[in-house]
Order: sequence, then structure tokens, then C-alpha cells
Amino acid sequence: MISDVPVDYAGYRPENYFGNYNGNITIEYALATSLNIPAVKILDQLTVPVFVDKLKQAQFSQIKKTGDQLGLSVILGGCDVKLEELTALYASFASQGRYAPLRWQQQDPLKYQRQLLSPTATYLVNQILTQLQRPDLPHNFQNSGHLPRIAWKTGTSYGRKDAWSIGYNKKYTVGVWVGNFSGEGVPELNGTDSATPLLFDIFNTIDYNSANDWFAAPPGLAQRSVCTATGLPANTFCQNRVLDAYLPGISPVAKCTHLKPVMVSENQQFAYCTTCLPESGYLQKWYPNYTPEILAFYEAEHIPYEKIPAHNPQCSRIFSEFAPVITAPTSNMEYLLERAEKQKLMLHCNTHNEVKQVYWYINDQLLQAVPVNQNLFFTPEKAGKYKISCLDDQGRNTDSYITVRFLD
Ligand SMILES: [Zn+2]
Ligand SMILES: [Zn+2]
Repeated sequence: MISDVPVDYAGYRPENYFGNYNGNITIEYALATSLNIPAVKILDQLTVPVFVDKLKQAQFSQIKKTGDQLGLSVILGGCDVKLEELTALYASFASQGRYAPLRWQQQDPLKYQRQLLSPTATYLVNQILTQLQRPDLPHNFQNSGHLPRIAWKTGTSYGRKDAWSIGYNKKYTVGVWVGNFSGEGVPELNGTDSATPLLFDIFNTIDYNSANDWFAAPPGLAQRSVCTATGLPANTFCQNRVLDAYLPGISPVAKCTHLKPVMVSENQQFAYCTTCLPESGYLQKWYPNYTPEILAFYEAEHIPYEKIPAHNPQCSRIFSEFAPVITAPTSNMEYLLERAEKQKLMLHCNTHNEVKQVYWYINDQLLQAVPVNQNLFFTPEKAGKYKISCLDDQGRNTDSYITVRFLD
């Protein structure tokens, strides 16, 4: 699994083609639907030099010249490439990961230069790229019996200057490029509607009905039970499991932690740490263990999720260093309000940057939990002194006192 959410790499903020975000998705889905953000994320993990080196090994001429200046955008086509280069690279997916330069005549010798990718990784990619549940299946082929069994990938360049579709099976690799030689963009141009129908027609012409001879799983590929929430080996608490292919010695072995245990009060209103566990009893409850970026995404998109209760406001643990700073209302200030106007006071705080959510209390009563940086308002009903507390999701609390007077 990988998260498809807004990202920021030192100012580089890639977006998906349709500007949407999908939250947690499988790598399979990300690749089959050509999502940009997950591709950039994976490149960030792999690192640009490792990827650029592979493309150099595949004889990408522009990469050989300027590869060292490229950044994360290279994964989305941020460099020039020739049709012959890309087609030769895809042909190595059809040859168990072995790379050979293109030959121009059949009698030219076929020379495999290097093992560019492992046979097991190649096989997994082939299985994904032959799936039919994807948006780049051309409309007129959707219900067609004339769909060749191939693995394929489409692409549309920035500004719709050209459209690409490259497909392969065990016998052939075909690369299709559609565009103007002048480089002028065409609004109607895209890989799915312009290049892929041509690709399918070519396969149906040169290799009609050879669908049955597909790539066999290579040795070295194994199956294991994984949790559907993370794709990691299932833990004792993971209920939804599927069998999934993995690469022993390469795929991560850490078990799934999609849930985490939290000690909470009987009414599940407060969470406890080991310091403040009450003798009167508590419950241990399992909560989703979301990453901060998924939490921020759910908050921003108003997607409901199961939240860990606020930390026990009576907790004595001292967290003074990074406790929230209440910036509004001003501490020790007297506020003069018009009762008839039902005037509101704004609550705002600054927090440590790991904090995602804060809990506001008025006179020790929970007012509301809000994402950091979201202003909250409350309407004082009575004149007098108010204790205003801001508790962050790490259990650090700050109190502030104000006095309210009404003008009437
Ligand atoms: Zn799990
Ligand atoms: Zn505590």
C-alpha cells in the first residue's frame, strides 16, 4: 500500500492528472491508473541517482547527458526520451529483465547487454500492466473480443504535445508515438484515445489470438498472507488478509501495525498514558494507527475516521517545552461583550509541528477537538472568570485565564 495524498518535497508538489487524491491505495492501482504522486513518492524512496543510473544502463541518450541535474520530476517524464529508447526498455520487461539494444534488421545479432531488472520484479510489473480494470483502456475496446493479451502503458506529455503507448507480450514489443513533428500540442491528443487503439490494432494484426502464451512466474517469487490495510505480513489482529506475491529477501518483513492499543477511560472519552493510568480502571482499545499525512488528509477532506480520545486532562506528566501557546484570547485580559449580540471569542494556538489536532476546554469542559490551525469560536454565556485550556494530541496542555464582562 502507498498513500496518495498531497506531498511537498522542498517546494516540489506533484499533482495527479485529474488533481484528485485517493488516500491509501495499492501500488498496483497506482501504476495501472498512472497516478503521479505515488510514483514521485516511490522515486523519493528509491532515490533519483539509482533510477537515473538504470535509465543510463538502458541507453537513454538525454539522461546520459543531463541525468545528474535531474530531480524527482524525472519519474513523470521530466526529461526527453526517444521512442526507440523507451521501446527497448519495455522489451526488457518482456525478456525477464534483460536489456538488449534495438536491432534494425532481423539478421542483426541480438545482444543482451545486462540484467536491468530482476525476473521476479519484471514479472510483477507485467502482471499489473496486463490488467484491464484501468482508465486507459480505450472505450471501443472495452467490450471487444478483439482485445489482445498484452501488458501496456500509456502516456501523454505535458501540454499534450504527444501521446505514447507501448505494449508487449512474449513475442512482440510495440511502441506507438502520436504527435506533430513540429512539437505543436493538440488538445484532443492523449495516450488512451490516440495511441493505444493503434497499439491494439497493430497487435491484432501481427499476433492475433496468441493470448494463451503468457509469462510464467519465475522461480524466487513466493506468496504470503498480508493485511489488506497495509500490504504487510498480517499481524495477530489483522482480520482482512489476502495472499500476495513477494520477493523473499527484498520485500519488507516487518509485520502490519495498522492498529495500535490505547488505554482509554470506561466511557472512551479520555486516553491515558502510563503516568496517568487511573487505579479505578481503564479499557485497552485498538485504534487505527494512521500516519500523520493520512490524518492531515482525512481532516482536510472531512473524511470521517475513528479518532483516539483526547488525552486525560488531569494527567500530571509535564510537557512544558512544546506545549501549545494560546495566542487568542489574550491571557489575563478582560473582554467586554454585548450580550444581545451573542459575541464570540476566537480560540487560536500555535503548536509544535508534529501536532495534528488540539482539544479546547472551557472551564475543564471539552469544547471541541479541531485540526491545528483551524480557528474555533465560543460564545460566553455568563460574565466572570474563564479557564481556557488547549491540549495537543501529544498530551501537552496550556491553560489561560480571561475575564468576561457584559456591557448591558
Ligand atoms: Zn493489519
Ligand atoms: Zn497521561
